[in-house]
Amino acid sequence: MSYVVAVRALCEFTAKHGDLDLRFTPSPSAQEGIAGHALVASRRSEGYQAEVSLTGDYQELRVRGRADGYDPAKNQLEEVKTFKGDLAALPDNHRQLHWAQVKMYGWLLCQKMKLAEVRLALVYFDIASHEETLLAEVFTADALRQYFEAQCEKFLYWARQELAHRAARDAALQALAFPHAAFRPGQRDLAEAVYRSAASKRCLMAQAPTGIGKTMGTVFPLLKAAPRQELDKIFFLAAKTPGRRLALDALELLKVSAPVLPLRVIELVARDKACEHTDKACHGDSCPLAKGFYDRLPQARSAALATSSGAAGLLDKEALRQAALVHEVCPYYLSQDLVRWSDVVVGDYNYYFDSSALLHALTVANQWRVNVLVDEAHNLVDRARQMYSAELDQADLAGLRQAAAPALKKPLDRLHRVWRDVQKDPQHDPEAIYQVRSDPPEKFLLALQQATQAITDEMEAHPTRVDAALQHFYFDALNFSRLADSFGEHSLFDITRDEASSRLTRRLSRLCIRNVVPAPFLAPRFAAARSVALFSATLGPQNYYTDMLGLPGNTAWIDVQSPFAAEQLQVSVVSDLSTRYQHRSSSLAPIVDLMARQYAEQPGNYLVFLSSYDYLQKLAERFRQLYPQIPMWEQTRRMDEAARDGFLARFACDSQGIGFAVLGGSFAEGIDLPGDRLIGAFIATLGLPQVNPVNEQIKRRMGENFGMSLAYDYTYLYPGVQKVVQAAGRVIRTLSDRGVVYLMDDRFARPEVQCLLPLWWQVRHMRVGQSAG
Ligand code: SF4
Repeated sequence: MSYVVAVRALCEFTAKHGDLDLRFTPSPSAQEGIAGHALVASRRSEGYQAEVSLTGDYQELRVRGRADGYDPAKNQLEEVKTFKGDLAALPDNHRQLHWAQVKMYGWLLCQKMKLAEVRLALVYFDIASHEETLLAEVFTADALRQYFEAQCEKFLYWARQELAHRAARDAALQALAFPHAAFRPGQRDLAEAVYRSAASKRCLMAQAPTGIGKTMGTVFPLLKAAPRQELDKIFFLAAKTPGRRLALDALELLKVSAPVLPLRVIELVARDKACEHTDKACHGDSCPLAKGFYDRLPQARSAALATSSGAAGLLDKEALRQAALVHEVCPYYLSQDLVRWSDVVVGDYNYYFDSSALLHALTVANQWRVNVLVDEAHNLVDRARQMYSAELDQADLAGLRQAAAPALKKPLDRLHRVWRDVQKDPQHDPEAIYQVRSDPPEKFLLALQQATQAITDEMEAHPTRVDAALQHFYFDALNFSRLADSFGEHSLFDITRDEASSRLTRRLSRLCIRNVVPAPFLAPRFAAARSVALFSATLGPQNYYTDMLGLPGNTAWIDVQSPFAAEQLQVSVVSDLSTRYQHRSSSLAPIVDLMARQYAEQPGNYLVFLSSYDYLQKLAERFRQLYPQIPMWEQTRRMDEAARDGFLARFACDSQGIGFAVLGGSFAEGIDLPGDRLIGAFIATLGLPQVNPVNEQIKRRMGENFGMSLAYDYTYLYPGVQKVVQAAGRVIRTLSDRGVVYLMDDRFARPEVQCLLPLWWQVRHMRVGQSAG
């Protein structure tokens, strides 16, 4: 059996030494890199071969890769590296790594073309100036072969233990048994659908109700499918921390229930949560855990993987931290290395779906065969929109200009002037608070690029000077420029003028590239995986999610039947009550009466969901006045973790009272209050996003993309009802739960809304007699 390794991965393993150094060296975006490589290739003479595929074997190793270019006329093999800023600032160990790569390619080329010698060239291409710096040297084939074999030899022991690990892992997975006595109702259907989608290499959308054990129902079948499908890795991606925890718990249970399961599981956490020295920068002169990082990495890596391969070992945040600190390396960057050697990676969506996502980049570079699980996948639409949107605030620029270093004054002033001109476009009303333009103006983008280049130079000149505001603006500007490159029908470019009262700030504005349809960005992510299974209790209508996310046309769909019976949940639509903005004050009295009546009939714990904090406060005030004897507690803006825990702690098995919350907020999904901890919910809103200029423009753009007949549903109706069903889903969590849900708005009685409610609900209609207000 051979072990396949990419040239780059092999060199990173064998030829990287010294410090971790992420000093201020902004790397080009993927598009800039591709454009840079294309430009270099276009400058070469006829006969130049770009992207030369090369492969070679050494004992059990198969080494493969793609050299950037070969010029037969000069007998010159080139490795192109695009960069921004000062080339002299490139750390020495990075340059050594580049030489290692090109030498490996050099031998593979000599072997393929039977060359006695070759000229190897590192071509550093400056993205800003388009200048090339070429470092070249002639090597004999014999010298390159020796180098190649020495590198392979260094890697061989690791490859052998990796092969042994995979064989043991796959044997254990084939024998793996389901860790519970039986599947829960619905869980087997889900598991079978996930297994089938993995076997047929198709994506899957699974709408599966809460309570059937979705996490185990997706992780277990994928692990079972892994040996036969020769999967390299499984990525479990969640929108929030509790989703990650559930996945880690399920994997831990599988490991302890199996006789032997050497499965390496790692949790990826954000840098700011993993960093041990938040006051320091990521290079050896500042942070002790970056100093000599690559020298101590092999020991840290081996120790961490030994823990992870053990019977119950999981490299979650804490275990990783311990492993890293024992060997005095940074836990965050250790976790990035360990991804390469792990079987299951548990992390946030952004590690795979973001534009510069680590897991996606490694999958493509190493040609890994990966299957991806997306937990609570309804969240991916909004999360992906955030990943592919960018905003610049003129107030930030104004602040920077005041305190700018002399070298930055001119470019920032120029940017300010061009920004002002953008607002003054004669084709648009200068007084309008909100405007949408066809695309970001070229002149503005050029000024922005000049400003970011000046900031790059400034930061390189003063690497120890930390200006948080400047850095913040800089990254926003880079992100904005990057998204401007790929601007299209999937996004809006809009200008929002500050409504503040002072004359000075009235002129300030925010420029936003606002993604509406993330599909074009996500489609390559789905294509890079063998299959992706997206699951959630609310993943319908199917066409909405397919269109928004860019899922392939052959994506399978399963709507898992709910294990719950209609008798468990009494769902009532209050069909003569309006919670529309203009009727809110007259809705308060009937809502309060209904809540009090229900509470008197069946005292216990309830949640009431409103569309806004303002509405919540008014209802809470009215309720408190009329029913001071009923315990109540309220969600407030920006609750921290302790406050959120305090809110949830009020829902005890033996307590009674009503929690007031906003729909779409922290308590409307992802919380588990089984049994008597929650026996009912009042939902006094259809959950529709506010009708405002931004949402109306989004609606327009939806119409342009998918047809006007779907514009309203895609913008307002589907996102709204999805939130309602999520909130109502808090009430019934187990087969023994009983509860009530009141849907308090006449629009819930409409057929187009009713058809979006779960099939197992039996809805009755009732009236409360709201008077006109
Ligand atoms: S500990 Fe923090 S500062 Fe140090 S290298 Fe890691 S992330 Fe950077």
